[in-house]
Formats: sequence, C-alpha cells, structure tokens
Amino acid sequence: MKLIFATNNLNKLREVQKIIGEDFEISTPADYGITEDIPETQETLEGNALEKARYIYKRTKINCFADDTGLEVEVLNNAPGVYSARYAGIEKDNEANISLLLKNMAETTNRKAQFRTAIALILGGKEFLFEGIVRGKILTEKKGDKGFGYDPVFQPDGYGISFAEMSLEEKNRISHRGTAIKKLADFLKNENI
Ligand code: IMP
Repeated sequence: MKLIFATNNLNKLREVQKIIGEDFEISTPADYGITEDIPETQETLEGNALEKARYIYKRTKINCFADDTGLEVEVLNNAPGVYSARYAGIEKDNEANISLLLKNMAETTNRKAQFRTAIALILGGKEFLFEGIVRGKILTEKKGDKGFGYDPVFQPDGYGISFAEMSLEEKNRISHRGTAIKKLADFLKNENI
C-alpha cells in the first residue's frame, strides 16, 4: 500500500518507514513532482498537519499523512508551541531559539515542558488525527551535542540526561514523534489496508 508523507526531511522519512514497516511504501511529495514549500499557516499543530495533508491529497488523490511538532512550556503558556522552529524570528536557528527560551525562563523555577506531535492522515478522503507527547523539563543550560532543535535543553521525565545526550534509537523509543508514528502505524495495521 502506498502512502505519501508530506515532508522533505529524509531523516524523518527513514524514521517513519522503520516504525511503519515494509507493508507500506512511503514516498515524499517530491516523488510526485511537488517541490514547492507546502503551506503551514495555521495556529495549531493539528491545523498545520491537516493543512499539509490536505494540500498533498488534493494534488495527488493518494492516501497521505503530515506531521507538525512543537515544544510547549508550561510557564510560557505553551509557547513556543506551533512557532517552535522560528521562536527567535529566523526559521530553524536552533542556537537563537534556545538562547531566547533560556532567557525567557531565567526567572522561573517551573521548568515543566513537553514536546507534542500531531499527525494528520487522509485515507480514502477521510481525515484522522494522532498525537504523541513526551513530558520533561527545560534545563538551565545546554547538555549534549546529538539531535537537533531544542534537544540540548530538554530532559525527559525519568531520565538524568538530555535528548541531545541520547542515542537516536533511545530517543525514538520515547519521543513525541515516535509515539505519534506508532499510533499511526497501529491504526494502519488494524485497518487492514
Ligand atoms: P517539525 O514540525 O518537526 O518541523 O518541528 C518544528 C520545530 O520544533 C523544529 O524546528 C524544532 O525546533 C522543534 N522540534 C521538533 N521536534 C524536535 C525534537 O525531537 N527535538 C528538538 N526539537 C524539536
């Protein structure tokens, strides 16, 4: 069975293919000649995931899914949330994003945060949503050099190390994205398509 994953990120594609297994052949928009940026203009993770999946489905009429992730910090009213990639203004400037986050949390002892992933699936024209969450805390300084994004300042509950100190396998086992993808994979397997 064929599915399109609305992403240009080949690391994500590999991670997803590994969890979903070989029964599903996952391709990317580029495989169908869709090379432009897919719009992400909504104010929620679910809204953006649906917007991306709908865009691809409209163009290809092939079953597809899309994801969107944000870091939600309790004391900041769940910011940066849907704006995580461009918190400090410039798209995907991880260093600037982390600096601004630590600055905005300098005065607080409430370090509670979570990563949340929303996945939207369109199957035969019907829409489904899946969610994955990992709870933890924001460290006061960076630790580790693996991973990406906010990994060096995020320590998942039950661990004494940051995401950036974990192997990719260990992180995927407990991560927001890993959990959301596993829910998607279980759903697809149960649908018997
Ligand atoms: P995306 O929706 O997966 O592109 O994620 C949006 C932004 O959230 C990224 O640019 C990162 O800043 C942040 N982010 C998402 N997933 C992770 C993660 O696993 N670790 C650290 N930061 C992440």
